[in-house]
Amino acid sequence: MDNKTKVLYDDGHHKCVMFGFDDESHEDSFLSVNQYLIVQNGVGVLIDPGSESIFDELYEEVSEHVEIKDIKFIFLSHQDPDVSGSIAQWALVTKAKFIMSSLWVRFMSHYGFMEMDRVMSLPDHGARLNFGEDSLTFIPAHFLHSPGNFSLYDTKSKVVFSGDIGAAIVSSPDGYKKVGSFEEHKEHLLAFHQRYMGSNKLCRAWASQIKSLDVQTIAPQHGLVFEGEDTDKFLDWLSELECGSDLLENLYPTGK
Ligand code: FE
Repeated sequence: MDNKTKVLYDDGHHKCVMFGFDDESHEDSFLSVNQYLIVQNGVGVLIDPGSESIFDELYEEVSEHVEIKDIKFIFLSHQDPDVSGSIAQWALVTKAKFIMSSLWVRFMSHYGFMEMDRVMSLPDHGARLNFGEDSLTFIPAHFLHSPGNFSLYDTKSKVVFSGDIGAAIVSSPDGYKKVGSFEEHKEHLLAFHQRYMGSNKLCRAWASQIKSLDVQTIAPQHGLVFEGEDTDKFLDWLSELECGSDLLENLYPTGK
């Protein structure tokens, strides 16, 4: 197993795996990228598989955990290239359904993906999908940062795959990308969230949904994973954060 791969949860039937393949053409930008996989009884769900440039490495590593033909769903939290850029490649090697916001379906053709009948588009309020003995919940995360954006909650492992929420601008550490001290980590969260997240009202709306769930881990698409009490510290921090339209004077010369 590659040292950038970490099993977040495994009870023998249900497993969550984190991969950390960075796009090497951008390795000087200090934006580490994470991809995820859920496997239950041999059936896979791939989450935010990323850009075309990491497809070969990710394919190889994913196949250590599930037969590629048994990937049944591929979830795309939003439309960005570091999330969805490899959609056409994954469409060729699997028969998976692609789950994404209804806002972004028509844009996928620009990544060379034309099989729109393979898309399960999510309505704004989200959806719940039966997955084996358990379920996957797609939680609205709109404007955090993308206008059509979802997080995925896995009821079995209690992991929230949060997309860009919780992302930090850090270089890729060796080994498991986990928050050591939230107090130290929050400085790496601040600038990203202030600029990329829509507003405090939106952050609160998302955080209150997540607080109502039994959550063990928050796993973002960039940076480090939050576990245990760090999940609560992060949700409290996010609920108080001023960002996006709260800081209008930083964005427009005329201010408020
Ligand atoms: Fe993004």
